Amino acid sequence: MIITEVESIVLLDRLHFVKVHTDEGLVGIGEVSPMKASVTHSVVTTVLAPLLVGEEATDIERLWRRMYTKPFKLGPGGAQLNAIAGVDIALWDLLGKATGQPVYKLLGGKYRSGTKVYASSMSRSLTPEQEADRALSFKEQGFHGYKIHSATPWMHDDGFDQTVATVTAVRESVGDGFPIMVDVNNAYYPHTAVKIARALEELGVWHFEEPLAAHDYEAYARLADTVDIPIAVGEQEYSSWQFRDLITVGRVDILQPDVIKCGGITELKKIAVLADTYTKPITVHNTQQTVGTAAHAHVWVSTPACVYPQEYNIEHNPILDDTPIWTNPLLPVDGVITPHELPGLGVELDDAVIARLRTA
Ligand SMILES: [Mg+2]
Repeated sequence: MIITEVESIVLLDRLHFVKVHTDEGLVGIGEVSPMKASVTHSVVTTVLAPLLVGEEATDIERLWRRMYTKPFKLGPGGAQLNAIAGVDIALWDLLGKATGQPVYKLLGGKYRSGTKVYASSMSRSLTPEQEADRALSFKEQGFHGYKIHSATPWMHDDGFDQTVATVTAVRESVGDGFPIMVDVNNAYYPHTAVKIARALEELGVWHFEEPLAAHDYEAYARLADTVDIPIAVGEQEYSSWQFRDLITVGRVDILQPDVIKCGGITELKKIAVLADTYTKPITVHNTQQTVGTAAHAHVWVSTPACVYPQEYNIEHNPILDDTPIWTNPLLPVDGVITPHELPGLGVELDDAVIARLRTA
């Protein structure tokens, strides 16, 4: 099955998908983290596609290594690995379609039946009381936890911050026992992170996410050794080498790879092996509600280390909610996502809607 075309699809500069076409007529779909879709679109079309057209589509390991090593000096993190992720997910979707199997079966079969999800509030404009009401409503819908983003990213003690006030209000609303996660997106200096961590411990917060500057692994190690609350990190790491350092140097408690950022399913499975080897749990970083969520679900059910609930973005997305872009949605039911029993990822884009929204 030979690759004939690698098609990069950008919707309103906000969503980025990849379709890999083959000489047998099968087409695989993948998704790229859309931090800057025009940049990753360029990587897919000008860098990766020429490396892939004419190659055997089922040689996933060989093609992954080719995409990683040939343009290595463009990466190895950020746009290069995001773009590789989109292609890699599409290749796994293709392999499933070619063999007539859901992707999870190709990854080792079911270790668990479905993936529990927690509700992730991406808003930074809600009051503590509004977050508390929202958290209660998602608890009542069956979600397995609620996450707030409560400080200004990367401002290091110098921005908006209502972390403790919001968690206090949310805890009062949802009661004891319901998991609350706190993500501050690299907002603090180390001494402030310790102070906030201790306050969050008192409030029974389940995990404290990205309190410090990304890649300052020495600072993460000191924090993780100082406080009891689990420290969760990983959405800025892209390869198994970076996750090795996050584990061995950073000594964080919970790993957060993202399949549409870290090079796709191929690399995420290797990160999961590291997680098992070093006895670290995974809770994936997951902000994209369609193909990315489906890819995570297939990895999740087949991977022992993916033990804690998966992130699920609860924000209104006008592209997805008002104009559904897929024909067979994969949505949480009572807080659980169960991958479709269809060949590949089991989700397909609606070509007519895609054509209308497509900007590249
Ligand atoms: Mg995060």
